[in-house]
Amino acid sequence: MTRPRILIVGGGAGGLELATRLGNKLGRRGKAHITLVDRNHTHIWKPLLHEVATGTLDIEIDQLSYRAHAAAHGFDFQLGRFDGLNRQQQKVILAPVFADEGEEVLAARELDYDYLVLAIGSVSNHFNTPGVAEHCIFLDSPAQAQRFHRHLLDAYLKLNSPRHPKETLNIAIVGAGATGVELAAELYHAAAELNLYGFADLRKARLNISVIEAGPRILPALPERIAIAAQKELEKLGVKVRTNTKVTAANSTGLQLGSEQLDAELMVWAAGIKAPDFLHHLDGLENNRINQLLVNSKLQTTLDSRIYAIGDCAGCPLPDNKWVPPRAQSAHQMASSVADNILAELNGKSLREFTYKDHGSLISLSRFGTVGSLMGNLVGGAMMIEGRIARLAYISLYRMHQVALHGWLKMLVISLVARINRIVRPRLKLH
Ligand SMILES: Cc1cc2nc3c(=O)[nH]c(=O)nc-3n(C[C@H](O)[C@H](O)[C@H](O)COP(=O)(O)OP(=O)(O)OC[C@H]3O[C@@H](n4cnc5c(N)ncnc54)[C@H](O)[C@@H]3O)c2cc1C
Repeated sequence: MTRPRILIVGGGAGGLELATRLGNKLGRRGKAHITLVDRNHTHIWKPLLHEVATGTLDIEIDQLSYRAHAAAHGFDFQLGRFDGLNRQQQKVILAPVFADEGEEVLAARELDYDYLVLAIGSVSNHFNTPGVAEHCIFLDSPAQAQRFHRHLLDAYLKLNSPRHPKETLNIAIVGAGATGVELAAELYHAAAELNLYGFADLRKARLNISVIEAGPRILPALPERIAIAAQKELEKLGVKVRTNTKVTAANSTGLQLGSEQLDAELMVWAAGIKAPDFLHHLDGLENNRINQLLVNSKLQTTLDSRIYAIGDCAGCPLPDNKWVPPRAQSAHQMASSVADNILAELNGKSLREFTYKDHGSLISLSRFGTVGSLMGNLVGGAMMIEGRIARLAYISLYRMHQVALHGWLKMLVISLVARINRIVRPRLKLH
């Protein structure tokens, strides 16, 4: 009997957990053939990208090799960029893979599936604001976060040069959602740490970080009291928070805020997300306003029950006319629901309905240092937590992802290695 082919495209917060679970349950026992496709060789959990950008996390140490993970967990890995879909023939098309020098190393390919899961995440939405695509950096991928880190170190070096006339390093972050707020705080602490490694004192006076938000307050998705507390902490660090301020354009020297020009050497765009444009009408599938693939209560795309969508690229309606938010916890919950549903389909059982459970949101304003604090809310904003408890809860989010990938024992070993690294390695990535 031929084994059912389960194809998962996108090895992020949702897709990699799903591939691991199905690989362990079905692949290892020869009950199904599971393939994971990703455009990158390695995985890094996306909520860590702002730490990659500031250098507080070294991607070389924390990334996971898809190929090694696949071999250990009973699935196949295919490197490639998802480039098209043929629903009638149940095929996914992958673009060719090129070496850095331009040589083609893998030709364009087609992969067959019986069940397809799309888990390709989201990209920043710049709403076609002029100049933003050219001049702002996005934190959508590890490559972009690394690019920001290189620019940041160059900017520090320039500032450090005795002959350089600049007195301050101006960084503008557009969007005061979780990404923008966490990045601002992390940058401040990275600056303080850089001082230890021979850079000039970049705190307060010389580092000038502005967070620009079009809405009336920061962290619009979180309860107001958490936003107020977070804003106070940011301002204590020295961050300038500007609400009710719209960015109308970006240029090589900064941001245009209506008639005002805000000078900045580094600009980060973190204001809203959308699913990648090519998902729009992908072989006739239905989308919402931000390109997400519409799914039913079982997370199958509305027009094709053989295709599931999970995570940021899925448009999953909630009863109150909202959508399941684009968060790691949503991707995690969707991955486990789809794993159960695929197992149910293979066993001829009925599928379960997906119910999103909001476990609250945590905003890390600092990973280390004396100005660190954390806020969070639990279950519907009923409880605010901060300080050490919130820190532990925040770290546990990543630990749960690691448990889903490696199991408890290996997660504990990885955590121990991370602790040792904190003693034996520099606290920041300095190159
Ligand atoms: C800086 C930052 C901080 C965040 N902090 C938090 C937080 O604290 N808490 C929280 O809950 N959420 C947070 N988020 C949001 C969270 O990261 C996402 O909601 C989550 O990662 C979505 O998971 P996913 O599996 O849908 O997509 P992703 O994790 O983005 O994975 C998508 C995968 O698809 C691959 N891919 C994309 N396009 C293609 C293609 N064409 N072909 C092949 N592969 C492709 C990518 O390489 C990637 O591996 C943060 C996001 C950012 C950027």
